[in-house]
Amino acid sequence: MINCLLATELYMPSLITGSVKRSRLGKYVDQSTRERYNRWPIFWPIHLVSFGIARQFPNEPSETIILLKESVNTGDKEAFHAYLRIFNHDNSLAPEGKTVVQALLETDFNHWYNLQEDRFLYETEKARVANDVLRRLEALYPGISSLVEMTDVAAPYTFWRYTRNHRGSFEGWLPTPEAVRTVIPKTLPGLANFYMAGQWVQPGGGVQLSINSGRDLVKTLCEQGRKEFSTRG
Ligand SMILES: Cc1cc2nc3c(=O)[nH]c(=O)nc-3n(C[C@H](O)[C@H](O)[C@H](O)COP(=O)(O)OP(=O)(O)OC[C@H]3O[C@@H](n4cnc5c(N)ncnc54)[C@H](O)[C@@H]3O)c2cc1C
Repeated sequence: MINCLLATELYMPSLITGSVKRSRLGKYVDQSTRERYNRWPIFWPIHLVSFGIARQFPNEPSETIILLKESVNTGDKEAFHAYLRIFNHDNSLAPEGKTVVQALLETDFNHWYNLQEDRFLYETEKARVANDVLRRLEALYPGISSLVEMTDVAAPYTFWRYTRNHRGSFEGWLPTPEAVRTVIPKTLPGLANFYMAGQWVQPGGGVQLSINSGRDLVKTLCEQGRKEFSTRG
């Protein structure tokens, strides 16, 4: 049997005690993998604030980066810009005539990981960030606040809780010169029939590279097993 895993949380330094907690795979993690997780920079953790709005914005671009005149405090960080998405083009996200407006802001992981220990404080802070974002949007789209029907905030801890991605990173390793020159092993020493695919073995991450890494891995396995590789089902 072959186990294929998306390389999410192989090695998770505990942020609270400074000690090292490991997943069940931890005993197979070698020195170079450990060093990578300790030293390589990752795509910054994010706040994703989504609003269900009772109108559409037909003349607005679906993606923009807005520079904030007044920064938004996102924990231990100040966000000076937001990546704004307006989902007019996706009818599946909102009832007719309505849409989702979503802001993505840079933040940090430790702050939110520690804060979630106190659920009340955590929820209050998430609501505060959403409010601050909405105030900035109000300056851009006057009246938008009164049209908000739904608010959803995903903090880095949310991404970690749902996907177990290392420090809630949304695209894995930053494509630094060192990262793009390194061929990251897809196996762990001593663990037979186990393979990794996805953003943690493919610097730069993203949907395309992650899918491609899975495809390449299957191709390699086919070669090893002397089987024909085919992308047809
Ligand atoms: C808000 C956001 C916006 C993004 N926008 C874009 C974009 O526009 N374009 C783009 O190319 N990329 C984008 N990305 C990045 C892209 O989504 C990721 O790079 C890609 O999904 C990584 O794929 P993956 O298979 O490595 O990991 P993931 O998609 O994280 O999949 C890992 C899966 O493993 C599961 N899992 C984890 N641990 C276990 C376990 N122990 N047992 C069983 N299952 C487990 C998780 O639940 C998850 O389903 C975005 C990411 C985010 C968060």
